[in-house]
Amino acid sequence: MDSLTSESISEPNTIFLKNYTVPAYRVDTVILDFDLRETKTIVRSELKIHRNPESHASHHNLELNGQNLILLSIELILATGSQWLTENDYVIDDETLTIANVPNEFVIKITTEINPKENLALEGLYLSSNMFCTQCEAQGFRRITYFPDRPDVMSLFTVTIHANQDQFPILLSNGNKIDSGVESDNRHWVTWQDPFPKPCYLFALVAGDLYCKQDKFMTASGQTVDLYLYVEHENNHKCDHAIVCLKQAMKWDEDTFGREYDLDNFMIVAVNDFNMGAMENKGLNIFNSSCVLASPETSTDADYYRIQGIIGHEYFHNWSGNRVTCRDWFQLSLKEGFTVFRDQQFSSDMNSAAVQRIDDVNILRNAQFSQDAGPMAHPVRPQEYIEISNFYTVTVYNKGAEVVRMIHTLLGESNFRKGSDIYFERHDGQAVTVEDFVAAMESGSDSTNGSKINFDLKQFMNWYHQAGTPNIEFKEHYDAKKNSYSLTLQQSCAATPGQKIKNEFHIPIRVALLNLQGKTISLDLDGEDNCTNVDECILELKAKEQVFTFNNVQSKPMVSLLRGFSAPVKILTSRSRLELAFLFANDSDDFNRWNAGQELALDIILSLVKQHKAGAKLQLDDDYIAAFKKTLCNDYLDNALKAQALSLPSESYIADQYQAGDYADTDAIHHVRIFVRQQLAKHLESDLLRVYQLSTLIGDYQFNAKDMGLRSIRNCCLAYLMELNNNNYYQLCADQFKQSNNMTDVMAALELLTNYENAYQADCLQTFYEQWQNDALVIDKWFAIQAMSRLPGTLDKVKTLLNHPAFTIKNPNRVRALIGRFCLGNIAHFHNEDGSGYQFLADQVLLLDKLNPQIAARLIQGFSQWRNYNENRQELMKNNLNRIISVDNLSKDVFEIVSKTLA
Ligand SMILES: [Zn+2]
Repeated sequence: MDSLTSESISEPNTIFLKNYTVPAYRVDTVILDFDLRETKTIVRSELKIHRNPESHASHHNLELNGQNLILLSIELILATGSQWLTENDYVIDDETLTIANVPNEFVIKITTEINPKENLALEGLYLSSNMFCTQCEAQGFRRITYFPDRPDVMSLFTVTIHANQDQFPILLSNGNKIDSGVESDNRHWVTWQDPFPKPCYLFALVAGDLYCKQDKFMTASGQTVDLYLYVEHENNHKCDHAIVCLKQAMKWDEDTFGREYDLDNFMIVAVNDFNMGAMENKGLNIFNSSCVLASPETSTDADYYRIQGIIGHEYFHNWSGNRVTCRDWFQLSLKEGFTVFRDQQFSSDMNSAAVQRIDDVNILRNAQFSQDAGPMAHPVRPQEYIEISNFYTVTVYNKGAEVVRMIHTLLGESNFRKGSDIYFERHDGQAVTVEDFVAAMESGSDSTNGSKINFDLKQFMNWYHQAGTPNIEFKEHYDAKKNSYSLTLQQSCAATPGQKIKNEFHIPIRVALLNLQGKTISLDLDGEDNCTNVDECILELKAKEQVFTFNNVQSKPMVSLLRGFSAPVKILTSRSRLELAFLFANDSDDFNRWNAGQELALDIILSLVKQHKAGAKLQLDDDYIAAFKKTLCNDYLDNALKAQALSLPSESYIADQYQAGDYADTDAIHHVRIFVRQQLAKHLESDLLRVYQLSTLIGDYQFNAKDMGLRSIRNCCLAYLMELNNNNYYQLCADQFKQSNNMTDVMAALELLTNYENAYQADCLQTFYEQWQNDALVIDKWFAIQAMSRLPGTLDKVKTLLNHPAFTIKNPNRVRALIGRFCLGNIAHFHNEDGSGYQFLADQVLLLDKLNPQIAARLIQGFSQWRNYNENRQELMKNNLNRIISVDNLSKDVFEIVSKTLA
C-alpha cells in the first residue's frame, strides 16, 4: 500500500453535520475472509445489501469507501444470476468505489489486496511486533475493504482468518469462535461470528503468537463469561492488574447502571504500536500495551490508576457505544462524553472521590479551557470537520463528560439512572444522536414516571451546540436587618471561531454558605421548596443575570461556590487572599478546599511575575507560607489530597491566565514558580523532611488508596527538598532511586535527579537504562524524563536522543515520550526565545506526517496558543506554521489543524 501519496490531498473537503442523509443502502450481513500475509494480504468480502426504505435518494448508486486498496475483483449476485464487473461497470477514485444502477436487493463479492507491513499510519490492518492487528475507528475499515464506512450502517459479521500456524497460532475476531481447521502449507484457519449487528468501526482482527491469561466472571443473572487477556510472552507477569480491573468494571456497571455483559467471552489484546489508548471493538478490545500491562517494578501508581480507568472505559463502551452507537461522527461525544463520565465515576468509587475530581478538573483547566479559547475551539458536538481523527479531543471527551455530569447533577442520581435505563432500552441496536440521549434523560425525570420533577433540557442543549468556556461573575449582598443574603450571578461567553454570538447556558451551580467557624449554614432559598433545610443546593443559572436570595442567615456568610466543580466554567470574580485562605483551611467540600489553595497560589504567583518583570526583589507572602505549613502538618488530612493541595498550579495553567494583549512570559513564570517552591522549601525544610521520613512504606508494593497517598506525599516532600540544591538531598534522592522496590518511587527520584546538576544523575540514568533496556514501556519513561528536564541544553539532549538506538519514530508511544513530552510538556524550553523549540517541532511534524498523520497532527497542539505569546514568539511560531502548510501533499490531518491554527 502507498501511505505516502494517497494520504495527500490538495483541497481537502469539509464535511458538515447539516448535510447528513440516511444511507441509501444497508448491509445486512458481512462475510469476510482474510488470507494473512505480511506484505500481501487478500481480503474477500461478501455483502448482502438492500435499499434503505427510509432513503429519499433519487439515484440507485452504491457508493463504497476505500483507501489504499488494490481492487482484484467484483462480482454482483442477483436473483437472476451472477455477473463479474469490469472497469466499465464502476467508477473508482482514491476514496470511493461507485456502482451505478444497482437493484433493491443483491449480494456483492469484492476481493482486495492490502499491505499490512507498509501500513505505518496504523489505521486499518497493520503489523505490530510480529502480530497482525486492526484499528478501524473512525475510518480505518475502508483501508481493509470497500464498504459503506459509516457508523449508521450496522451489520452481522462472520469472519474467517487464515494464517501460518507457527507464526500466528492465535487468530481472533469479534464474537464467538464457531469453527476452525488446518490447511496446506502449514496454515490454519478460524471462523468467528458476532451475534450483534455492529458498525464496521467496531470490527477487529488479531493474529499472533501470544500468551493468554484466563479468568472468569459470573454476571448478576448467573451467566459465566470467559475472560482472556492476550499479551506477548515476555509480558506474562504483567497481566494481573488488568484482570482485577476488568472484573471490578464488570461488577460496577451491573451495580451502578444495571448493565450486564452480553457475550460468552471478553477478550483484551495488548499491542505495542497503537495510535490511541485503547479501542472498544465488540468483545475484542485492543489496547496500547502502556494502558494494560502493569507490574510493581515497572509501573507507577499513576500507570496502575490510569489502567484501571481505561479498562473500565473500554468495557463500559459495550453499552454506551456498541449496543447503542453513534449515527454519525459528529455525535462522537454521545459515546465518548458519556463513557468518560462513566469511567470517572468508576475510578471515583474505586479510589478517592476528591482526588479523582481534582484530576478531572486539572485536565479540563490545563488542556480543555485553552482549546476552548484557541483557534481549534469547537462545540462538544462539532458541526464540521475535514479529518474526523482531529476531533478525538479533550472537548469531545472531557468537556463532553462534564456535560453529562451536569445532567446528572440537575436530575439527581435516581432520575439520571432512570434516564440511562430508558436510553439503553429505547435505543438498543440503534445508531442515534445526542438529541436521543438528552430526550431519554428528560424522560427519566418525567413526573409521570414517578419523579418529583419534570426536566426540560432544551436550553441545556447549548452545551452541545456552543464552543467556549462560560465565565461567571458574582456579587454578594448581606442585609443584616432582614437576615438575608443575596447572590447575583452573571454569565457570559467569549466569541469562538465561527460563533460570534452565544446564547445563555443552563448552568448548575452547587453552593453552600459557611459561618465564621467554617460550618455550613442550613439553607432557605427564597421561592425554592427543594432548597430548604439543606446544607447545599443547586442554583440553576439560565439567564444572563439572576439573583438568588437566602433567608434566615444570621450573620454575613462566606460563600462556597461551584462545589465539586459542578459546571465547566471559569469564575472571574476574584476573592481576597484572606477569603481564599479561610476556604483553604475550612471548606467542607474537598474539591473547593483544594481549589481555594490553588487560587491563592495563582494570585501570589501572578503578582510575583509582575514584580519580577519590573525588576523588583521577590518575597513570598508569610501568610501563604503559614497556610502551606498548616496543610503540610495536618495529620488528619488524607495524604493524596494533601499532596494535591501542596502542588502549585502548572506553568501551562499559569500561562493560560494571560489574555491577548497581556502576553504570557514563560521565562518569568518558570522563574517565579521555582522561586516560590524554593522559598517554601527553605522555610519548611524540617517539616518537609519529617513528613518525608514518616511516610516511608515498608513491605511489598500494593495498589491501594492508603499506600498511594503515602507515596505521593513522600515524593511531594522530596521534590520540595530538592529545590534547596543541597547535596544531602541529592544523596537522599539517589538512595531512594537505588533502594526502592517499586517504579513509583524510582521514577520520582530519577525525575528529580534529572532536573538538577548533581553527581548522581548520569550514573542513575545509565543504571536505569541498562536495567530496563528490554522493556519498551519503561524505556518510554526514560526518554520522557530526559525530555522534561529543567536543565539548560535539554533540546540538544532531546535531539541527541533521536539518534539513540532505542528510539524509533515508527512507534507512537516513543514519539509521545520524547518529542511529545518536550514540545507539549516542557513549557520553558519549548518556548525558548530563540525559536529553537518551534523549529524542532515543525521539523518533526513534517517528518511524521509522511508516516503517521494522526500522531503528527496531535503534536501541532504545541503551537495552538501562539497568539498568547509576545510578538517575537508569535512571529517565530507563525513562520513555522507557514513552513508546514507550504509543503505539498500534506495529510488532511495536519492540513486541517495548521490551517485552523493560522486562521
Ligand atoms: Zn472511548
